[in-house]
Amino acid sequence: MNDQSLLAAKTWIQDNRIEYILAQFVDIHGAAKTKMVPARHLDMITHIGAGFSGYAIWGTGIPRNGGDYYARADLTTLSTLPWLPGYARVASDGYVHGRPHALCSRVLLKSQLARLAERGWSLNTGLEPEFTLLKRDGKGGYVAADEFDQLDKASYDYKGMTRKTNRTFLERVTSAMSAVGADVYQIDHEDASGQYEINYVYSDALTSADRYIFFKMAASFAAEELGMLCSFMPKPFANRAGNGLHFHLSLADAAGVNLMEDKNDKNGYGLSELGYQFLAGILHHAPALTALCAPTVNSYKRLVVGNSLSGATWAPAYIAYGNNRTVLARCPGGRIEWRLADAGANPYLVTAGLIAAGLDGIERKLAVGEKHDDDLYDYTPAQLVAKGIPCVPQHLGEAVDALTADKMMVEALGTDFVAEFARLKRMEWIAYSQHVSHWEMQRYADFF
Ligand code: GLU
Ligand code: MG
Repeated sequence: MNDQSLLAAKTWIQDNRIEYILAQFVDIHGAAKTKMVPARHLDMITHIGAGFSGYAIWGTGIPRNGGDYYARADLTTLSTLPWLPGYARVASDGYVHGRPHALCSRVLLKSQLARLAERGWSLNTGLEPEFTLLKRDGKGGYVAADEFDQLDKASYDYKGMTRKTNRTFLERVTSAMSAVGADVYQIDHEDASGQYEINYVYSDALTSADRYIFFKMAASFAAEELGMLCSFMPKPFANRAGNGLHFHLSLADAAGVNLMEDKNDKNGYGLSELGYQFLAGILHHAPALTALCAPTVNSYKRLVVGNSLSGATWAPAYIAYGNNRTVLARCPGGRIEWRLADAGANPYLVTAGLIAAGLDGIERKLAVGEKHDDDLYDYTPAQLVAKGIPCVPQHLGEAVDALTADKMMVEALGTDFVAEFARLKRMEWIAYSQHVSHWEMQRYADFF
């Protein structure tokens, strides 16, 4: 629905025989949270919002004795849920005391988009969702749902993609995406067992983030119906590629012209000066952005330098740019592909962080440094130092420290938001650090 008016929404609800609306927002981790609202109460969720206990939701910053959190419907996002006839979904903003809540990641993204709008610009993003279809192994663990899916180099595998359950899943998710106007144009088997990617067309950054949440809602339902689990965990299998969520980025002016494109770019990347400044900003702030793009302890197993069974993880660890898949920012032509983010990231936060960092690059006219079209996985540590190529933080604790130490990012994203994000992520890092794993017992129990 593109019409914001309540009247148009009510007509749409009637036409589509909607009985329930899922008033949906995301917590700080980007997980969808909802209430079922009988459709006749649309007015209430549009004007006030569906009410939630603030403390019961991760990352609202609301204390136990604090107030309510309201998910206020953005009617432009109203869509059917094709897998649940009679249901609609509406993406919502967090409101507290009648005002947009700065700790709601959708609100946070909107505030960064407003900074672009002041300059007459908007951001277009294209997200590349990767995920793994798993099943429980009966022994407390998980394995690829399709037991035949075990090729060393599984990318683009015809059989893995077309076996009945896998194919049915992919078809159902593809068809569901049309409800939010997301035109799927390519689907493939990725590098790991049970791993796939579904590509749909890019759009304005807010719509892309809303669509990714819808995608995860559709995928988890389709998988469950087929007896599987659709996992967006960054690195399910130690010896296989992880699940990335690459962001393709381009700035546009009011007429929709791509401001990042310049066909005369002497590097051959088709990037404009503005594009290079944005790129310089996101590379400069990459350590801080890592906390948002790789927000779990498991994320760093994806980013670690080393090869997978197929010969490459395709996940970048070095802060560099070029037109190749071993760098953080790939420049495929007139846009930037930011490869750092993983499938477990909150898309609103990643986008908000990228805008803040990119704008800093533009405002300070930061220079981007040398390009790298070579395979950075081949470089020795000494070569990397000699070439001045730093590594992203190598664990969650380090990434959170990098975020809190980055004054510009803290100010742009809001001190309250960063404090709450850092508090939760440090708890996660400490909980993980205290855990003694099976690997440690095997290695050290009888070692000394
Ligand atoms: N799976 C890789 C990652 O974790 C990306 C593979 C690709 O380039 O499609 O980023
Ligand atoms: Mg991919």
